[in-house]
This record gives sequence, C-alpha cells and structure tokens, in this order.
Amino acid sequence: MSHLREENIAAYIGDQLSEEERDLIEDHLNDCTLCFESYLEAVDRIEPSYDLSPSFTEEIFNKINKKTPKTKGKSTLVHYAIASAMTLVLMGSGIFHYVFSAFDDQQFQEQPSITEKLINESDYWKNNDELGGR
Ligand SMILES: [Zn+2]
Repeated sequence: MSHLREENIAAYIGDQLSEEERDLIEDHLNDCTLCFESYLEAVDRIEPSYDLSPSFTEEIFNKINKKTPKTKGKSTLVHYAIASAMTLVLMGSGIFHYVFSAFDDQQFQEQPSITEKLINESDYWKNNDELGGR
C-alpha cells in the first residue's frame, strides 16, 4: 500500500471515512512510522479547535464507547493516547531543554556573586548612612 495522503489523514481525524477506509488507514498507521508522524502532526494542527471545545473529552469517550465492541477500533484510542503522550513528551523535553540550558554552569556561578553584590551594596549604603548621619 502506498503512503497515506494528507487529506486522508485529515478525513480520518475528522471521522469522515467509511469503516473500511478507516480500517485501512489505521492498519497503515500501525505499520508506518512515516505516516504516523504525519498523523501526529495533523492531530497537533487540529488540536486547538478540539482543545477549546469543552466537549472534547466527551467526544473521545463517545468515540471509544462507540468503537469498544469492535476489537479493531481500539487502535483509535491508542492513537489518541499516543498523540497526546507524544505532545506532552515533546513539550516536556522542550521545557526541560530550556530549563537546563538556562541553568548552565555560568548561571550557577553568577548566583553567589549576585548575593555578594547585594551584601556589598547594603554595606555600602549602611556605611554611607553612618557617614551622612553626621
Ligand atoms: Zn506510510
């Protein structure tokens, strides 16, 4: 089977396919990392409109419930779970990368010197006050 086209993936996410077409796409997504990545990207692009909808979770649960009797349908739940897990992992790794790069050695070395500077400055003002008090 050739790779999935973007509009097929979009139609799959939008639940606009017949069961047969959906099964074909789910089979392909299970086997093909390349198309699964496109699928994750597509889910990511569509996500905001889903996210803003308060019924999003309800929609997913309805889909799961609707599909549960079929053994095959559970892969949709798996895809949703993997898609959201992947998003979290990507977001998490991005955040961790940002945090770790922000707290490199230079930053750690600067930390005590800032405190030192503050102590020195307060000493300076204290001394000045004593001098100016006269
Ligand atoms: Zn493919």
